[in-house]
Amino acid sequence: MGDWIPRTELGKEVAAGAITLDEIFSTGRKIKEPEIIDKLLPGLQSEIIYIGGSPGKGGGIKRTPTKRTARMHRSGRRYRVSAVVVVGDGNGYVGIGKAHAKENRDAIEKATQSAKLNVIPVKRSCGSWECNCGGSHSIPLRITGSEGSDRIMLIPAPRGIGLCINDEAKKILRLAGIRDVWSKAFGETRTRGNYAFSIFDAFRKINSMKLEAVSKRAQPKREDFGDEEGAE
Ligand SMILES: [Zn+2]
Repeated sequence: MGDWIPRTELGKEVAAGAITLDEIFSTGRKIKEPEIIDKLLPGLQSEIIYIGGSPGKGGGIKRTPTKRTARMHRSGRRYRVSAVVVVGDGNGYVGIGKAHAKENRDAIEKATQSAKLNVIPVKRSCGSWECNCGGSHSIPLRITGSEGSDRIMLIPAPRGIGLCINDEAKKILRLAGIRDVWSKAFGETRTRGNYAFSIFDAFRKINSMKLEAVSKRAQPKREDFGDEEGAE
């Protein structure tokens, strides 16, 4: 990083300390160099979303970080691995990337760089009517994200509930800085790469909403709390 030579206008401004991440996003400028994120989010962490899996001994699926796929070729099988990586500062910025390569390490590295280019701000809030604390521990409203045949609904939850969602999804929400959420999954959640991207899609959808619309739609619908009759 010490030897970063910016190649874009935005990169030059970032290297000169002339612009913040908030300013970049509020003006809709495109980040084309991963070093921009390295520089502006020095506390960035990353997690590999485990998208691979092979049947383990004694049943069950053994999850693996990368997915290996074979293609037939004249000279025999050709293997390649793909990886999905999430990056985030744990405080309102998150990105996701996917890449493939011949080797695990290369796929993971390429996916990490791609995730940096896809960093977006996450609108956090307390959309839970039961909590209503005005904090930023959850999301502002319930929202459904999708990717391929995968759909995931994220639902605001009160402080202290935790992340009620599968382990791979928890990695994304933690890196985004969201601490409490309920969820419902629909579709082919076996495709774990898509599943991760569907959560990211939900964040993007929240970002595309106007704030007034968010506060209006943040009101709960009864079916979110199906079993609690008469709760008010
Ligand atoms: Zn709250």
